[in-house]
Amino acid sequence: MTADVRKETLGFQTEAKQLLHLMIHSLYSNKEIFLRELISNASDAIDKLRFAALADSSLLEGGPELQIQVDVTSSKKLHTVTISDNGIGMNRDEVIENLGTIAKSGTAAFLENLTGDQKKDSQLIGQFGVGFYSAFIVAERVEVHTRKAGEAADQGVLWESHGEAEFSIESRPKETRGTSITLFLKKDCQEFADDWRVRSVIKKYSDHISVPVMMAKPPAPAEDGEKPDKDAPVEYQAINAATALWTRGRSDVKDEEYKEFYKHVSHDFQDPLTWSHNRVEGKLEYTSLLYLPQKAPFDMWNREMNRGLKLYVQRTFIMDDAEQFLPMYLRFVKGVVDSNDLSLNVSREILQQDPAVESMRSALTKRVLDMLAKLAKGKGDDYATFWKEFGQVLKEGPAEDMANKEKIAKLLRFSTTHTDQETQDQSLEDYVSRMQEKQDKIYYVVAESFKTAKHSPHLEVFRKKGIEVLLLSDRVDDWLMNHLQEFDGKQFQDIARGALDLGAETEEEKAEQEKLAKESEALVERLGKVLESKVAEVRATNRLTDSATCLVVGDHDMGAQMRRIMEAAGQPVPESKPILEINPAHPLVKMLDQEADEDRFADLGNILFDQANLAEGGQLDDPAAYVSKLNKLLLEMSGNR
Ligand code: ADP
Ligand code: MG
Repeated sequence: MTADVRKETLGFQTEAKQLLHLMIHSLYSNKEIFLRELISNASDAIDKLRFAALADSSLLEGGPELQIQVDVTSSKKLHTVTISDNGIGMNRDEVIENLGTIAKSGTAAFLENLTGDQKKDSQLIGQFGVGFYSAFIVAERVEVHTRKAGEAADQGVLWESHGEAEFSIESRPKETRGTSITLFLKKDCQEFADDWRVRSVIKKYSDHISVPVMMAKPPAPAEDGEKPDKDAPVEYQAINAATALWTRGRSDVKDEEYKEFYKHVSHDFQDPLTWSHNRVEGKLEYTSLLYLPQKAPFDMWNREMNRGLKLYVQRTFIMDDAEQFLPMYLRFVKGVVDSNDLSLNVSREILQQDPAVESMRSALTKRVLDMLAKLAKGKGDDYATFWKEFGQVLKEGPAEDMANKEKIAKLLRFSTTHTDQETQDQSLEDYVSRMQEKQDKIYYVVAESFKTAKHSPHLEVFRKKGIEVLLLSDRVDDWLMNHLQEFDGKQFQDIARGALDLGAETEEEKAEQEKLAKESEALVERLGKVLESKVAEVRATNRLTDSATCLVVGDHDMGAQMRRIMEAAGQPVPESKPILEINPAHPLVKMLDQEADEDRFADLGNILFDQANLAEGGQLDDPAAYVSKLNKLLLEMSGNR
């Protein structure tokens, strides 16, 4: 293939264009971050080269000294800052792909969520990761000159854009491999052509970068009467510490440095919520630095999202998103693991089988759970923040990780009838500490929404007796409860499932209950016939005080919420009918019992059944029939027969 020397002008992908525009406008007050992003990219490019060179050392092209160089020029006409690296570089196609499009899935949906409110949007963009386009916050024009490692000098490419609708691309030979990005600064951003300003920003944001960031030594002050020697060779010096941050001792690393390093590894824009940095010695030797973000990424529900840690082996970068080191339900954790035991040519396939990886995974999982437990014990709202953002993901834990079930259960937070608030802030330990003397179960109700759960007819007897019930309404809750089973030796009990056994009933109550059941035998049988095709059974209950009826699920049947989710997803759902429980003390039920007209009895019976369904957030099979039956009854009651 001959090099394409033509100068081509191409349009940015629509999403890229939108993002560019937004970035320029919403991050203006934080413009210096472009340096962090570009240096972060340069450092990634060097990591990638170092890794590729493990297999093919010719990629180093005899110039193994890996480094980033930052140069500024400042004249009357021209103010530029240039960030150069001798990393992996890009070929023509890669330049178009990487700088002209946004590959992240869900980008369009993300952009739709933006409000136009600059302050809010800048937060969202932070979540998205600002990246290369941040250059256009300060530059009116950006040139990227790059050449891929291992290719000939004439394969160099020049990319250029004003950050509007288009960019141009042409061939431009480049002797040295890697990428050089020049920003032609906007008038009001010329401060970034100032050596000291740039130095201090890099110190602040990029000191943790493990490759040297070089800048020209400032010229020595002129001696008396002499002009500084313009032709003297420029001397470069590293302006950062250039050691991998995680290799330093905990006490040597400042919080600010941990935070900046987080932004580099996570591509996040905000500070992390907390972190845990550990060196493990012994049979296995490795260092881990794990972070919890403050905000869920916009694509967290995409199970294919980039997840996992950056893997290093003996300080050499091996891969991003090494998902083998943490389970799926901890996919929000970011950070680095650096192993001394793995081989440098380890691959994803090998990682899956390596027993060392398996034991690191279980140790790292414990670390994260401990970090969460510590956060939960701490003062302030940090755990509440975590729960709000990631609680639903953590709820996948008990199903995925049997070994840590109890640990995870302690970290769960719920809404309960104790507070009757939607905020999930009550732990199972809180619940257990409030259990009644003879209570031996942890009760819960699952519904479509918090409101439906809170007003569930099943709760009536519990409220009357002052027994606390967990109010569950997240999509994963049925799934979660299927796997939890018990906590602290106490069984979980779905109050809409099976027969109600509150254990602590008095003799008096029992006698009353039996009396009611006897009295309603005839009604139960009659109603059972009318609703034969819809219910498995009709029975009298003591769980209702205000409502006339409710539906109960058989002990081994699928819960109503799970059923609705499966149906919505087009999954086959096993046939099963609910049990209809009636409250014999309720006036409507008494009225039903008195009804001699069989047609009206059937209508009223069906209405009560449909209402039980509605009260738990279900949908009626034939809503129009329900409305017409009800209206007929209403008219009869008003005398308009
Ligand atoms: P991210 O770093 O999150 O992937 P960026 O917007 O910062 O996103 O960069 C987009 C892509 O452009 C990078 O993933 C990389 O492939 C490429 N890229 C950017 N800067 C460089 C560079 N200095 N050298 C090589 N590739 C680069
Ligand atoms: Mg980047």
